[in-house]
Amino acid sequence: MATAYLLGTGAAHSNAGRTTTMICVHSDSSTLVIDCGGDAVARMQRVGMDVDTIQALFLTHEHIDHVGGFPLFYKKLWLSGRRRPLPVYGPAAAIVQAARCFATYDTRAFEGLPPVVWHTINPEADGAVYSDQSWIVHAAPGCHGVPVVGLRITSKSSGGAMTYSSDTSPSEAITNLAHGSALLFHEATGAQPGHSTALQAAQTAKDAKAQRLVLVHLPPHLPASDLSAAQQEFAPMELGSELSSYLF
Ligand SMILES: [Zn+2]
Ligand SMILES: [Zn+2]
Repeated sequence: MATAYLLGTGAAHSNAGRTTTMICVHSDSSTLVIDCGGDAVARMQRVGMDVDTIQALFLTHEHIDHVGGFPLFYKKLWLSGRRRPLPVYGPAAAIVQAARCFATYDTRAFEGLPPVVWHTINPEADGAVYSDQSWIVHAAPGCHGVPVVGLRITSKSSGGAMTYSSDTSPSEAITNLAHGSALLFHEATGAQPGHSTALQAAQTAKDAKAQRLVLVHLPPHLPASDLSAAQQEFAPMELGSELSSYLF
């Protein structure tokens, strides 16, 4: 079985109970982490995960609430004893942003800092963007004003798939990416350019024939009327819950 953990469920600005949206998936001693706008390592520790199992980090786009925690993420892996390379995947602009964030610090005394191996994701390309003994990852472009990728992660052990929309207004490419997913984590920031409402997330889940929708990237207040409208559109829907786990 594969498990997805919601390390965070908030938008850039959310409420006191939510940090920025970050997700990791775990199976067979292998972990993939998606986005690190906050302290992803601390959140992994809260759910009892061993950070030494991290195989790769995915950055969906360059915005602060998705990349801003990279220097701390990288430093914490080094302090935890990691010496093997850290693979990082993302659109070109997200890769540049993460590298630039870290480069602003003087790290000359960081003896044994593991190298980062940067991999640029081209979301328009066919085929998987990542594969190892546990996972296959596909990507598709969202609509967000800057290059952004949604990710579909398939577990080789369970055969199940989970899709994360990242930040996007309704996108046919994301709907197609999510087709038949056991789990769809979709943003519900609200009616803003480059984002989606809860109802639009529900429509995407319905069109994609997803089995379960979990709303993430949540604003400080999500009106109850928005939630009930979304639930009427797609019943197996719930609000993302910080540090909760989801099987797929
Ligand atoms: Zn964004
Ligand atoms: Zn965001």
